[in-house]
Amino acid sequence: MLEIKNIHKSFGDNIVLNGIDLKIEKGDVVVVLGPSGSGKTTLLRCINFLEKADQGQAIFGDTQVDLKKASKKQIYSIRKRTAFVFQNYNLFNNKTALENVTEGLIIGRKMTKEEANKIGKDALDKVGLFEKYDAYPGELSGGQQQRVGIARAVSLNPDIILFDEPTSALDPELVGEVLEVMKTIAKEGTTMLVVTHEMSFAKDVANRVIFMDGGVIVEEGPPNEFFQHPKEERTQRFLKRVL
Ligand code: ATP
Repeated sequence: MLEIKNIHKSFGDNIVLNGIDLKIEKGDVVVVLGPSGSGKTTLLRCINFLEKADQGQAIFGDTQVDLKKASKKQIYSIRKRTAFVFQNYNLFNNKTALENVTEGLIIGRKMTKEEANKIGKDALDKVGLFEKYDAYPGELSGGQQQRVGIARAVSLNPDIILFDEPTSALDPELVGEVLEVMKTIAKEGTTMLVVTHEMSFAKDVANRVIFMDGGVIVEEGPPNEFFQHPKEERTQRFLKRVL
């Protein structure tokens, strides 16, 4: 469904992505692990054009796009197929939960307010926040704000949702509710690419785990195999540190 070929990205002399290939099938939940600074967030941002890759291709179904030279139209077409969940939620503070969710549907998808409100309320219901649709972000906990962020992504009905460390800004006691929502939408068949440090999510929910280090994919596999029998020394060292 989504194939990424040979992504390269540097910031000055800092080579962050050094030839990453990735294939994601419909319904896959792929978790990306790796030490701090290994380029996980940059990979997601390049796929969604929040960052411009130096080199690389993205193939979405029958559409192939050069990640460096994509036209505005191609960028729009890829953005339409993807949704992004940000570490810091990226909500508008002066809009209610429902308005945050419907903004993209009304502006980006040209829906009427009535259509967008119906989809938005369904999405908020899915993340357990139906009652809070009229609340402003400042009136919600971090976990609730992130659930609004997830509702916004779900409401767009994208081919894939990209999660960039969705729980790492949260107090520990709020992490569980967000992971639970992610688990629910994964079970419903949502295709997800998730950068996270939550090993339990990788073990319990992912069907594939990717370990990045030094700008490359060092190892990947199904979670059982990856956690119980890591093949590469770099993976073994990383797992020893985090488990
Ligand atoms: P973490 O787990 O700590 O979030 P990460 O694996 O997601 O790390 P990235 O955030 O992708 O890593 O960063 C990879 C490297 O790229 C880091 O050295 C970072 O400082 C650098 N970097 C990221 N974004 C920029 C930018 N906009 N300008 C300059 N350097 C950047």
